[in-house]
Amino acid sequence: MADVVPAHPPVRVPVAGTSDHFPVRRIFCVGRNFADHAREMGAAVPASKADRGTPVFFTKPADALVLDGVVPYPPGTRELHHEVELVVALGADAPAGELPVDRAQALVYGYALGLDLTRRDLQAAAKAKGLPWDTGKAFDHSAPIGPILPAARLGELGTRRLRLHVNGQLRQDGGLDDLVWDVPEILHELSKLFALKAGDLVYMGTPAGVGPLQPGDAFVATLDGMAPLEGRILAA
Ligand code: MN
Repeated sequence: MADVVPAHPPVRVPVAGTSDHFPVRRIFCVGRNFADHAREMGAAVPASKADRGTPVFFTKPADALVLDGVVPYPPGTRELHHEVELVVALGADAPAGELPVDRAQALVYGYALGLDLTRRDLQAAAKAKGLPWDTGKAFDHSAPIGPILPAARLGELGTRRLRLHVNGQLRQDGGLDDLVWDVPEILHELSKLFALKAGDLVYMGTPAGVGPLQPGDAFVATLDGMAPLEGRILAA
């Protein structure tokens, strides 16, 4: 038996400081996971943890990952937006519905810096009509990512700050202690809906300050204790 079309190998993200790679299965993403970003998008902000409801999840295809930082300006939009995010890389499986919060951290292999690039005009049009976000979120080259740093080498996330500079100017700056849903809580909530597997990535949501990227722009994402993720937007 032969494949009737070429098979695509998994995307492999480098593991920082090694020659090893992390083969990617799925990309899950969390929306509105910083209150200040939910506010800037005009969404309701919960008054307390008890009022959080459930997280907003969406997905991107694994082949949307960008490993070299080079992002061609995408077609079909006049409003490409940056969202700097912490990315969680899973190193173990959890069957659907069987991941308590207090066991979720054990699934984490490591962390990376990422951008959840968004065609904001298409996402806004979809939101207004109650339609899916795929064309706004799940496009080619929409998920730049840096090398994955094993969790044991980074240590606790704590109050580390996630930042994005564009052309040298600070655009986004948020503390990881301001996440509405922290990493174990997000994995627990995802597990209610999906079987999680080693190889999955979770983009954890962005702090306030999202805004446009233009062809020629250079971006630098940083998180205390990790190597920066640098890249640029090419002409269409
Ligand atoms: Mn996002």
